[in-house]
Formats: sequence, structure tokens, C-alpha cells
Amino acid sequence: MNDPDGPVASARRRLLVLGGSTEASELIRAIDSEGSSVEVVLSYAGRTATRKSPPKGVEVRVGGFGGTEGLANHLRSDGISAMIDATHPFAARMPFHAAAACRTVKVPLLRIVRPAWAPEPADRWIHVTTVDDAALAVKHLRARRVLLTIGRQELSAFAECEATFVARCIDPPETGVLPGATILLARAPFTLEDELDVIRDHRIDLVVSKNAGGETTRAKLDAARQLGIPVIMIARPPAPPVDTVERVQDALDWIAGRIGALA
Ligand code: NAP
Repeated sequence: MNDPDGPVASARRRLLVLGGSTEASELIRAIDSEGSSVEVVLSYAGRTATRKSPPKGVEVRVGGFGGTEGLANHLRSDGISAMIDATHPFAARMPFHAAAACRTVKVPLLRIVRPAWAPEPADRWIHVTTVDDAALAVKHLRARRVLLTIGRQELSAFAECEATFVARCIDPPETGVLPGATILLARAPFTLEDELDVIRDHRIDLVVSKNAGGETTRAKLDAARQLGIPVIMIARPPAPPVDTVERVQDALDWIAGRIGALA
């Protein structure tokens, strides 16, 4: 077993990256471009039908591990030396599984999470803590035409609202989860012009967003501010107390320190 605080033996340089975020993709591309000798395994939950191809040489696995115990067993059996949790800031369970499994098997763990967005003075944000609370706020505000940018998994929370919805997702939601909604299939990045067009074309009077942070989806907030439209902003779920960085470069430095120089 490895000392979670120190470098690990060079014979076991296998890094498991839990993917699902822009940072995960950037991280594995950066490791690749630095010509690292580290073996990288990139793990996806398998929620999206399509995903970008990883760099050559990166091993990809798809699907859950079977909870904390399954992940701990996987870390042992796959000879993982260190793990980076680069799941999305709204992944509510996996970061806890990662923390518990790494503690059990004594594999060093780092989480990478981009900073949350903060409102600017002209923003009209309504802060809520869950998707269900966002649906209550939609009812309370009596919004008429609402842009939902929360993915496709939790759309049913809005089914009892009287508003007309435009839901933007990467893959189509299951039929009937939000009857009558217009579904826009699109993948970030979105520009300010893209977002102004969506809001104007669909006569949107309220935007619902998760506080995902980052640049690729922030233009909707700029567009809402410019057009004076309120945004219901859903806060991030709780996170486990593990070593956490915000930048890919900090994760690269951590990897270099834990599993050998990236040379
Ligand atoms: P979650 O609640 O944290 O995870 C649910 C289950 O999915 C986990 O218990 C685990 O199954 C499996 N899982 C999650 N991430 C995995 C990974 N990288 N590799 C293998 N298995 C994984 O997360 P979620 O909200 O369902 O999201 C699923 C994935 O989509 C995450 O990887 C996340 O990064 C990404 N994502 C989520 C959102 C969002 O808004 N929630 C947005 C964009 C991307 P087992 O317990 O069986 O191991």
C-alpha cells in the first residue's frame, strides 16, 4: 500500500482520473502533451451518448464501480497509484465514494473543482440549494418562459410548474419527463451571441442554472444580465473534506509530486 502523503514506487505509476468535467479532459491532454510515463485510466459514468476521444494511450473505462466498496476493490485490483477526482462540481455521490475508497486502500487522492460563479452587481440571481427548490422558485416568480440549463436528468422536478420550458441538454431526455418542453440539443461552449439568440428567439423571461462555474457555459449569465433577466442559481452539493485544487496546473504539480516527474 502507498503512503498517501508521499511519492509512490515507480513500478506503480497508474493514475485513475474520474472524468465528467472539462478539467478532466484538459488534465489528460496536459499529461499526454508533457510526454508523461504515467499510465492514465480515464473513468466515465457513461451518462452521455457521445464523448470526445481521449489522447492515444489513455485507457478509458465506462460505468460505475459499485459504490465505495467496488471502487476500493477496483483501486486494489487495477494497481492504481493515485487518483484524481475530476468529476463535475454537481456530482453529488462520487466524490464521497472516492474519498472513502482512497482512505480505505490508502491511495492518494486529489479533487479538482473549478471555482463557482459569483454574481456581478447588475445580476438578478435568486439563490436556491436544490433543483426542487428551483422549481418552487419558478412557481413563485410566475415566470412564463423558462430556459433550463441543468442537464436532462432532473427535468421532471419542473413538471408541476405552469411555465413553458426550453430545456437545453447534450443528449435527449427520456420521453415525457417534462411534457410540452422544447428540447434544444447542444453542447458547450456557448458564446454570448449564442445565448442572446436563444433568450430572444424563445422569449425567455427566466433562466435556471446550476452554479457549475467555468468559462464554457458562463455566457448565459452575461446574456441574462445584459437583457435584465433573472437567473435561479442552484448551489453546489456538499463536498467531502479532501485535498482540492481549482486549476489543472495544480493537479499536474500534485501528480508530479506523487507519482514521479512528468518527464
Ligand atoms: P454522482 O451522483 O456523483 O454519481 C452517481 C454514480 O455514478 C456514482 O455512485 C458512480 O456509480 C457513478 N459515477 C459517477 N461518476 C463516475 C465516473 N467518473 N466514473 C465511473 N462511475 C461514475 O454523479 P451524477 O450527478 O450522477 O453524474 C454522473 C457523471 O456525470 C459524473 O461523472 C459527473 O462528473 C458527470 N456530470 C454530472 C453533472 C451534474 O450536473 N450532475 C453535470 C455534468 C457532468 P458507482 O457507485 O456504481 O461507482
